[in-house]
Amino acid sequence: MTIIGRFAPSPTGELHVGNLRTAIAAWASAISAGGSFLVRWEDLDQFTATREHAVAQSLDLASLGIVPAAPPILQSERLSLYHDAIASLVKRGLTYECFCSRKDIRDAVAAPHGQFALYPGTCRSLSDAERDARRQERPGALRLRAHGGTETFTDYIHGTVSGRVDDVVLRRNDGMPSYNVAVVVDDALQNISEVVRGDDLLGITPSQVYLQKLLGYETPVYGHVPLVVGDDGERLAKRHGAVTLRHLADLGVSAAEVRDKLWESLGQQSETWNWNAVPRTPWISTF
Ligand code: GLU
Repeated sequence: MTIIGRFAPSPTGELHVGNLRTAIAAWASAISAGGSFLVRWEDLDQFTATREHAVAQSLDLASLGIVPAAPPILQSERLSLYHDAIASLVKRGLTYECFCSRKDIRDAVAAPHGQFALYPGTCRSLSDAERDARRQERPGALRLRAHGGTETFTDYIHGTVSGRVDDVVLRRNDGMPSYNVAVVVDDALQNISEVVRGDDLLGITPSQVYLQKLLGYETPVYGHVPLVVGDDGERLAKRHGAVTLRHLADLGVSAAEVRDKLWESLGQQSETWNWNAVPRTPWISTF
């Protein structure tokens, strides 16, 4: 099988060295196995995602030598595919309406980085009358009726991983498809065979695997790469100083130097990608 890898950033700002490190791993893993590599813009958040950020992110990736095999697709241009997938789940009785906190549901278009709590099931068993009453207050979002099972997947770093499947949001109450639906549909339609991304998405992966099975898709192999943290041990962010290529260039650090340092931080000694060498712990940014 031909390996197809991908990097799927949300174009909501500049990529930082943590994102770039994961992109290098995703690209190198696919390319060194003779496969190909794609970039996809996960731009469902209409308030923060912009074409300008997508262009800037492309240029940053290119300056590290990461060039996709085809022009990137934009999720905002593929909404009907996600709606079709949701409709097929609705038709099979695998969904229910949810009227819980606006924030939970609003956040559903973004990937749930880090710890997240499983949905407690508040709206899972509403009666028809209760649902009708709640609908008068505001429209419901749509959740997956997951039946609380577990799913197992294979990860280059974490081995065989099992975890609980959540009643994830499939569609927000403004009608927008969620991240979890879009990522599963696109990984399948783009024939992605390996998904390399930050390990803060490890917890949501069983739910994505479950959705893949429901929709009749293959499950890719995963590679959840440890995050880059600042010297305070917290996930890298702007407040940690010069964390973008632009800022580092202002300080005289070239893109080539950043690439070399990130490559080394990933434990790689030669040009050929080696998953076994990738450190299992977060990397403290030394820029
Ligand atoms: N678009 C997601 C993010 O940037 C990545 C999701 C994924 O790689 O599956 O957070």
